[in-house]
Amino acid sequence: MVDNNYFSSNYTEARKRFRAATEHAGGCIHTYAAGCKGPDGDPVTTDVAVIGNPDAPNILLCNSATHGVEGFCGSGIFTGILQNGETDNLPPNVKLVLIHALNCYGFAWLRRVTEENVDLNRNFVDHKKSHPKNTEYPKLHPILLPDLWNEKTIAKCRRRLEAYASKTSLYKLQSALTGGQYDYPDGIFYGGREPTKAHRRFLQIVDDHVGSPQHILFLDWHTGLGEYGNGQLLGMTRPGSPHGDRVYKWFGHGLETPAEGQAVSAPLTGTIGSGLRRRYANTDTEITSLTVEFGTYPVREVLMPLIADNWLHVNGKPNSALGREIKAQIKKALYPDEEDWKELVWVRGRQIIRRGITGLGNL
Ligand SMILES: [Zn+2]
Repeated sequence: MVDNNYFSSNYTEARKRFRAATEHAGGCIHTYAAGCKGPDGDPVTTDVAVIGNPDAPNILLCNSATHGVEGFCGSGIFTGILQNGETDNLPPNVKLVLIHALNCYGFAWLRRVTEENVDLNRNFVDHKKSHPKNTEYPKLHPILLPDLWNEKTIAKCRRRLEAYASKTSLYKLQSALTGGQYDYPDGIFYGGREPTKAHRRFLQIVDDHVGSPQHILFLDWHTGLGEYGNGQLLGMTRPGSPHGDRVYKWFGHGLETPAEGQAVSAPLTGTIGSGLRRRYANTDTEITSLTVEFGTYPVREVLMPLIADNWLHVNGKPNSALGREIKAQIKKALYPDEEDWKELVWVRGRQIIRRGITGLGNL
């Protein structure tokens, strides 16, 4: 049975537990203020735990809450790892850097996006170049943002999206909506036109605590895609390249490559992993980068609360009764409040971290 104390019910509790667990594990904690407040009026922060040999050549860098509200999962796993002794005997050549609540605004407000309404995992494109074009999204945008959010407009939205899916496919619908778009700041999965504050904070944390090691294993923890409670590793994971061979050797199963169109995720632009690779381009640092994605509910059930939450912050009132209802929906879609889900996530999450440490330790 999973110790329920690892998994929290709100951002404030999660932050407190993570910080206490870091102290318990003998790690150092570093705090980065986001410059904005949570719903309780308190400033929100990103907290970073650093554990192990400070001069270790290999770094396991784990990040949570790139997508705000998805951070409950990573938070619970990181807290558990620190709390139950998993980090007590790190190999001397491995340092662990755990980023708690990178998009702390989104975590606290139960949103997937940042305070700029940006999908942080689409924001790491090179903004000096022209932004990627999503030619399908404009066809769907008006459907997603009605003036009012009620039974009638919700039904209409569902109907139109289903019509699009039956004309193309559910995967095409998912790609059009979730692949990322750079032209509608009030839309969903908007990648932004410049680096967000959380984007800059991530690069700062990397400069401060990762530096110039020989190898970085980067794991970015998400929820919402895939089978209930199942943890997939997404990235360039086919054998045949140095990266693919490595992840195959270290993790062995549960690997998917979205670019090949078979994974739970559509191909994406501007991911945080691509930002990390750009940061270390033309250096000697070798990078292994994977997204950890835990399934919750079917795609349709996850998409509607995201659309509703976007409507709420553009056209609605988050503090209204409808606002609270939508918040409960988005939280449940990305963080099922069920003990057995947390148990599945904990066991698989711990396995992934253990394997990552072993892989880096054997380098
Ligand atoms: Zn995500």
